[in-house]
Amino acid sequence: MSSQPTTTPALSERLQAVTEALAAARTQEDVFEIVLTPALEAMSAIAGVVMLVDETGERLTMAARKGYEAGRQTLWQDGPLDGSVPAADALAQYRPLFFEQQGDLIWAYPQLEAQTGGVAAVATAVLPMFLDDQPLGALILDFTLPHQFTPEEQRFLQTLAAQCAIAVGRAQLLHNLQCQVLAHTRFLDEERAALDAFVAFSEAVGIETDEIVLAGQALEVLRVRFGDCSGGYYQRDGELWKLRTWTSDVHAQPELLALLRAGVPSEVPSLAALLHSRAPTFTENWSAEDQGVEHSELYGSTAAYPVLVGGEVQGFLSLSLKRIPQWGERDRAIFRAVGRSFDLALERAAATQALAATQRYLKIAAEHAPILLFATDAHGVFTLSEGSLLAKLGLQAGQAVGHSATALFAGEPDLREGRRLNRALAGEQAHDLTHFESKGVTLETWFIPVKNAVGEVTEVVGVSLDVTERLEAQRQIEHTNEELRRSNRELEQFAYIASHDLQAPIRAVTNFAGIIDRRYGDKLDERGRVYLQQIVEGGQHMKRLVDDLLTFSRVHTEQGELLPVDAQTVFDTVARRLHTPEALIIRSDLPVVQADAQQLDQLLQNLISNGLKYCREGVVPEVEVTAQRDGAWWRFAVSDNGIGIEPQYYERIFEIFQRLHGRESYEGTGIGLAVCKKIVERHGGQLWLESTPGQGSTFFFTLLEG
Ligand code: ADP
Repeated sequence: MSSQPTTTPALSERLQAVTEALAAARTQEDVFEIVLTPALEAMSAIAGVVMLVDETGERLTMAARKGYEAGRQTLWQDGPLDGSVPAADALAQYRPLFFEQQGDLIWAYPQLEAQTGGVAAVATAVLPMFLDDQPLGALILDFTLPHQFTPEEQRFLQTLAAQCAIAVGRAQLLHNLQCQVLAHTRFLDEERAALDAFVAFSEAVGIETDEIVLAGQALEVLRVRFGDCSGGYYQRDGELWKLRTWTSDVHAQPELLALLRAGVPSEVPSLAALLHSRAPTFTENWSAEDQGVEHSELYGSTAAYPVLVGGEVQGFLSLSLKRIPQWGERDRAIFRAVGRSFDLALERAAATQALAATQRYLKIAAEHAPILLFATDAHGVFTLSEGSLLAKLGLQAGQAVGHSATALFAGEPDLREGRRLNRALAGEQAHDLTHFESKGVTLETWFIPVKNAVGEVTEVVGVSLDVTERLEAQRQIEHTNEELRRSNRELEQFAYIASHDLQAPIRAVTNFAGIIDRRYGDKLDERGRVYLQQIVEGGQHMKRLVDDLLTFSRVHTEQGELLPVDAQTVFDTVARRLHTPEALIIRSDLPVVQADAQQLDQLLQNLISNGLKYCREGVVPEVEVTAQRDGAWWRFAVSDNGIGIEPQYYERIFEIFQRLHGRESYEGTGIGLAVCKKIVERHGGQLWLESTPGQGSTFFFTLLEG
């Protein structure tokens, strides 16, 4: 009895200590350590184990052991929760089992040693544990000596087992909670990573313009969000769709990668569906065989987002989920959202590239020309960008100048310019010339609308060119031309008057020479008569010269109206006039043309008479006039079989007074062809020639159909 008072407080003190320690335990391992140590010490047990029912509720598994030699087989091993082991029986009977003497346990479970390969202890206590009336496991203690379990010890052990059960339950709860928190945190982390990727993508799309790089970034967003998946971007290449960029995991499948890079045909059913619908497409229950895509067995489902150019699919983003055969609603929405962002990014990139090209061009222009660049926003508020004109106009780059470029020049509003700008803001290209009096500058300004993907004008890029000098030069040229025209008119007038006035004295000289010859001819010696003859001939030549000059000046001064004229009738008149028995003048059918009949007569007369005059010795001169239709024009040809003309004179002979021969070989004034040229040009046509020296020449001229 003397030991009673000391044993009981010792056990209850231990229980107290265990309860306190268990309150602080966080894990099951902590719990078992705390329970097994005092149990063994207080009871002088040699070793102990904790067995737990697993989550299936059908098996017992070893959760902790203490006191056994490492590696030694014991009776307490994982196994089914049926009646063949003490722990299962204790649980089934809701009571502890105490085996106090050597052989008790083996007597109750004769097979146990053979089944487990372990050796039974001398005494053993098996304490079942329950949590909320559910079997949780058992606390088992082994003794090397026979052990009488006193009622206090039994209570102590049962309380310990109950405490253990509660602590295990709490640790399990804690564990589950932690798992849930962890899972939730992981989910949040994933969401945040996906969001980060999306933000990075959104930021990148603002600056990145390379289609493949953009696609790579979109795929990265998808990969982070979907995890176990493969992504790729395909572009059309003739009949095939070739993989251009892909997520890094695809490298692990070199055969598939090679196949996709080489290109897949449009006939692949999932691709055909995409090309047909031209909308995001989801393919579930992917079958490598049905789709005809080798090495793609790993995938359960795919999705594709088309990139349309001019309404046709030119490329697509693709995402394949590994092993997952279905697309959830939320995942579909995410895929569509990323696809749409990518699509917008591409449109934005295209617009940016176009704009960059324009701006590059304008910058280059700005370096080489007196130029001013500016841009407006969608409301037409101008900002000056740069240009060599800035300094000249006393302006600064980056200056915002209000709603009209005219505001630049301190209150010189120009309504026309406002209209042009408004047109550009409405999407049309506009162009304007504005003179700024106070600066003495005239600017030629282009307004170029820049549109976004949906065709709205987001800004107007403008370029102003200083055309002051160019306009001045133009004005100068016009002025000079006008002067020239006037002086030509005066010259023609003068030539007309001069030649007209010369006619009378020339006539007088030749008349008087004739009178001297008749009256005093017999009084003159041979030399005197030659002189007189020369006076007559000189006078005659001078008369021809004056006549020709008159004709030349009359081409302009006496212009008749252009009317339909029958060229055939005119030819016949001329041919009759020039007829001699020693020559042949012929024609083909000739058309009716728009002409001044008298000038056409003159033209044919000059060309035909030249053809007759410049003939070869011993060859009967032959001139033929033909005409060929050439659109609204008729091309006339006047061919002769005369001496021909060297090519180097083709231009010169049309100039006035230019002759290739002396008067001793061919009489002439060098005015005839100049007259011809003037007549043809006055009719709007052209005059030229082809010739083979020694064989003949052909003069061509064109006249409009009558
Ligand atoms: P001209 O009064 O001298 O004939 P034209 O102006 O008619 O003046 O011709 C200029 C020159 O062109 C002639 O002097 C002659 O040398 C050359 N010419 C014109 N027509 C012919 C022709 N049919 N064949 C060869 N030479 C020609």
